[in-house]
Amino acid sequence: MTDWIDLERQYLFQNYGRQPIVLERGEGSRVRDVDGKEYLDFVGGLAVTALGHAHPAVTQAVAEQAARLVHVSNLYYTTPMIELARLLVEHSPLDRVFFCNSGAEAVEAAIKLARRHGHDERGGAHGVIAMEDGFHGRSLGALAATGTARYREPFAPMPPGFTHVPWNDLDALRAATDDGTVAVLMEPMQGEGGVNAPAEGYLRGVRDWCDERGLLLILDEIQTGVGRTGTLWAHEQEGVEPDIMCVAKGLAGGLPIGAVLARESLARHLVPGDHGTTFGANPVATAAGVAVLRHILDNDVLGAARRASERLVTRLRAMEDRLPAVTGVRGRGLLLAVSLSAEVAGEVVAACRERGLLVNNVRPDRIRLMPALIVEDAEIDRACDILEEAIRWATS
Ligand SMILES: *Cc1c(COP(=O)(O)O)cnc(C)c1O
Repeated sequence: MTDWIDLERQYLFQNYGRQPIVLERGEGSRVRDVDGKEYLDFVGGLAVTALGHAHPAVTQAVAEQAARLVHVSNLYYTTPMIELARLLVEHSPLDRVFFCNSGAEAVEAAIKLARRHGHDERGGAHGVIAMEDGFHGRSLGALAATGTARYREPFAPMPPGFTHVPWNDLDALRAATDDGTVAVLMEPMQGEGGVNAPAEGYLRGVRDWCDERGLLLILDEIQTGVGRTGTLWAHEQEGVEPDIMCVAKGLAGGLPIGAVLARESLARHLVPGDHGTTFGANPVATAAGVAVLRHILDNDVLGAARRASERLVTRLRAMEDRLPAVTGVRGRGLLLAVSLSAEVAGEVVAACRERGLLVNNVRPDRIRLMPALIVEDAEIDRACDILEEAIRWATS
């Protein structure tokens, strides 16, 4: 039999710490490897496969669009991009959409938009304040905004103009603001940083400070958006509206896509020649996005996701009561994490995998769960049984 893992080691950059399984197919919340072993998927391609694997609505939209027209570039109009942009505008507080191909690209475009606004209207102000433990992607601008020094330092120098302040600390944000500041860039709930929810009133406080000082609020909803936290956008739960919003992961149900949404007063700063991308607004990716959003909106998937979240949180809290090794349950909606008393998350992930469950060690002492929004009750129960057994095993 072909040793795919051996071949991967031979031919690909060794820049990922992949789990040692070769996945071949998936359906709903289940994936199967090349040996035929099945796993419950509570990683979902890193909060990407919002409707699970091979959802008929997505599969059909992709197949039909792929058979019709795959790519023409932004020299021309196509219909799926317009349909998806309209859906996004109708279901968000923002007015216009720019499409790209990934989260990092959405962040880059948002930074350029903020700088262009600073150039045109704020006397050249270009400083961006971002959060410690915030994550915005791996390209240089997005990396400069990312709040984990260990990701940035080996690639110095970073593009200038970025500062970081502690999460949930309004005073630090106020102190870091000066006349050169143009925007605050943050996730409404931190994902890669360990599933860190905002303190009560924190986002409202940031929004008020931005209004007071004429700063743009850029919300990176790349991980939290498209229903992941139980509402279409996480900011809805905080009673705030962003000026610019970055979207990606879940938007096209697994196809590569990114989007920046902005108010009309900002979007108009970008004129032909300012920004673009060859693959952006790709017909197949945007057709998938239309299928995902329509399915979510027409079938009360958000309600189902909130009920699934309640069930999962209840089960995890019961685990916290029973197991001293479980020290907390974090997050919102279906972006959740379990904190452990020791740095054994890697061992727990391996033990879960051997027992047929995929979860993610977002930190050495934290397990992140991000199942499909359509995860079923029985799948939640089974996942929790496996997780509990794995934690017992790893901590005994
Ligand atoms: C994943 C992520 C990104 C980066 O997206 P890529 O598609 O990997 O470039 C940016 N911001 C947040 C909040 C993310 O979770």
